[in-house]
Amino acid sequence: KIIEQQNARIRENMGKIKHKIVILSGKGGVGKSTVTVNLAAALNMMGKKVGVLDADIHGPNIPKMFGVEGLQPMASPAGIFPITTPQGIKTISIEYFLPSESTPVVWRGPKVSGAVRQFLSDVVWGELDYLLIDTPPGSGDVQLTILQSIPDIDGAIIVTTPEDVAVLDAKKSITMAKMLNVPILGIIENMSGFVCPHCNKVVDVFGKGGGEKAAKEFGAEFLGRIPLDVKAREASDKGIPMVLLDCKASEEFKKIVNRITE
Ligand code: ADP
Repeated sequence: KIIEQQNARIRENMGKIKHKIVILSGKGGVGKSTVTVNLAAALNMMGKKVGVLDADIHGPNIPKMFGVEGLQPMASPAGIFPITTPQGIKTISIEYFLPSESTPVVWRGPKVSGAVRQFLSDVVWGELDYLLIDTPPGSGDVQLTILQSIPDIDGAIIVTTPEDVAVLDAKKSITMAKMLNVPILGIIENMSGFVCPHCNKVVDVFGKGGGEKAAKEFGAEFLGRIPLDVKAREASDKGIPMVLLDCKASEEFKKIVNRITE
């Protein structure tokens, strides 16, 4: 009964949001949070109302990447109020509820999924055009909870780096989404080539084309490649989405967002 009541709240809450997109990757560290933050910022720059749900309970990085870490959301009987970034993006993360930035969340699966479901049911997002959901890597509890709990989810964006091990794991995420009848909106290849700041030549640190090959193999759209960019990493450490900077990665993100919103 409690679960049914919560499902009803999730339906009502998510019903106010036009588009719900989950960002998945098989492997960790491929830039899933970076992609989420920058897609959100690019959508925001287009005038869309955007929210970001950080479902990476064990490694919540979204607040830091937006420069709003350590803030505390207000809670009332109406629900939990998200933290708004300087750009006007609404965010929620378990990070906001931790006493310090080095406090780990030492929880087993059911409690982690419970926190994610509470974010879906109790956060007061209001009316949004887009809710982007950043997930931990892999195909476990959290991904299953999200893909099964959100009614009429638009689909999943898969992030991978170009090399074989990351692509291999990305294929598992694609298959998981397909098993759950969640559409694949497309694949993004991140850290795809490094433009040397000294000679301007492109070095394919992690190889090239893995994401595009996987897209072909699964009949999914290839959304684009984001280069490895020192500025991008510096920006995320400073809490500024790289789409706000003038760099190659920024251009690519804007193209991808145009493709998604078409
Ligand atoms: P994930 O969410 O998949 O674990 P992150 O988004 O946290 O990965 O990225 C891992 C690290 O790589 C971060 O320090 C981030 O700033 C950096 N990073 C991600 N994408 C890029 C990129 N295109 N260029 C430079 N650094 C990047």
